Amino acid sequence: MIRFENVALRYDEGEEVLRDVNFHLLPGSFYFLAGPSGAGKSTLLRLLFMSLKPTRGTVHLFGKNTSNLQPEDRAKTRRRIGIVFQDFRLLDHMTTWENISLPLRVHGRKPHEYRDDVTELLKWVGLGNRMDAYPPVLSGGEKQRAAIARAVIGKPELLLADEPTGNVDPQMARRLLRLFVELNRLGTSVIIATHDYQLMRQFGAPRLQLERGTVQIVG
Ligand code: ADP
Ligand code: ADP
Repeated sequence: MIRFENVALRYDEGEEVLRDVNFHLLPGSFYFLAGPSGAGKSTLLRLLFMSLKPTRGTVHLFGKNTSNLQPEDRAKTRRRIGIVFQDFRLLDHMTTWENISLPLRVHGRKPHEYRDDVTELLKWVGLGNRMDAYPPVLSGGEKQRAAIARAVIGKPELLLADEPTGNVDPQMARRLLRLFVELNRLGTSVIIATHDYQLMRQFGAPRLQLERGTVQIVG
């Protein structure tokens, strides 16, 4: 599913953020990506989402070396991934409901097929009364929940989330985590970057621990 081999990454002329990352994950796994702020969690997710190329080494995703993918293949591969960006990246000119249904539209599904699913999911994440609102008027926590709903609606093969509970209270954080667990039960591989060790303890999943530019699997 995912294989990092001797991966290093540095931005421009800076120091190496990742030095020598080696690990592999099987389909259907559930991992937290842990480490202090600045350890390289977002960087590792960007490598997986192919927003960055490794400076050295290889990242394999779905059996392919991501550095060799042509733009169309990269776009196709990305459609198999649901991602929650730290800065949400909702489209401001679409309502919350339209934002969440976008991945399904991109997959060519028809509105009558997914209307009820989108509405149900929005209610589940507590946005039942915000479906027609545009992102600029949503609070940080509401945007975060919308971004999560958009990432999970299409039941992707891989779900990447960058600090997905950073803007919500602990109770909502647990509720959102349960959504990821449920998705994982349906077969999605999940990687959640967080520095919330309390949340990680509560859910007890193994973690990819980032330290000094390398990754150790813990638990
Ligand atoms: P984390 O997500 O664990 O907080 P990041 O991956 O965001 O860590 O950052 C790791 C290091 O890389 C930090 O020192 C950060 O300043 C640096 N960094 C992140 N993005 C960039 C960038 N676009 N250009 C230069 N340095 C960056
Ligand atoms: P952090 O995890 O520290 O919040 P961000 O995701 O905010 O990191 O990224 C830090 C900065 O790096 C942002 O200004 C972002 O736009 C920029 N950045 C992110 N990815 C890239 C990239 N692939 N190339 C260049 N700059 C990037």
